[in-house]
Amino acid sequence: MAASTEKFSSAMLEILRASSNVAVLTGAGISAESGVPTFRQAQTGLWSQFDPLQLATPQAFQNDPKLVWDWYAWRRKLISESLPNSGHHALADLENYFPEFTLITQNVDGFHQLAGSKAVIELHGNIFRTKCSQENRLITDPPQTTGTPPRCPHCGELLRPDVVWFGESLPAEALNNAMRAVNACQVFISIGTSTLVEPAASLPFIALNNGATVVEINPQTTLLTPMASYSVRGKAAEVLPKLAVEVLR
Ligand code: NAD
Repeated sequence: MAASTEKFSSAMLEILRASSNVAVLTGAGISAESGVPTFRQAQTGLWSQFDPLQLATPQAFQNDPKLVWDWYAWRRKLISESLPNSGHHALADLENYFPEFTLITQNVDGFHQLAGSKAVIELHGNIFRTKCSQENRLITDPPQTTGTPPRCPHCGELLRPDVVWFGESLPAEALNNAMRAVNACQVFISIGTSTLVEPAASLPFIALNNGATVVEINPQTTLLTPMASYSVRGKAAEVLPKLAVEVLR
């Protein structure tokens, strides 16, 4: 429906202010302005010749575990040298306003928690955790090795990042909790996600089917745009602080 840029629709603000239950879905776009590229942005530097959509797969790890492990080590370093931006902080502020507020993220960078968000559901894991590629057991303080990925101290199999790769199932508890939030919300806000990666991509459409007001914040149009109740074209780090000011005033 309404597409606004700088100025928010007053009807949208009224609905949001009156809402007691909000669910938010974030994707890689919200961290773009922290300096962490989305998978669909051109990669720079050392890894520019590789396609992240090809590296973030179980097949890539099976074919070349060192390549994938090194790529994740590079991404962990990039993220640990970056900070949450004003979009992450605005969502942490908004959490305090609504009686029920659930933040569902596809991001693995942990920026929402760093910014102070409390009710965060990580659908795709966290890049700072490591698990056994065989048994899925989480490994704290993984052995430090270079060259090939370290080995699980329990079974000797290769360790891998505790993230969900393309083609893998999501952690059941996270997905169930996300579904509960989506089914209960009055307003659903989709931020910085291409609405292409399932099952997260379906969440705004489930909210729509349930009668929730669905707001999209993205500089680009997506599959959700024509269906969204309100679509705000803009960068998350610019739009969200303004939205928080309007809601919290
Ligand atoms: P995506 O790369 O498919 O889409 C990113 C979306 O963000 C696009 O629609 C783009 O238009 C939008 N965008 C770009 N800049 C933006 C900005 N400044 N503000 C708001 N939106 C902006 O990302 P996705 O939908 O999250 O799905 C891909 C997968 O990538 C996910 O599984 C996620 O786990 C993974 N990923 C995570 C990170 C991270 O943790 N920071 C980074 C890259 C990829």
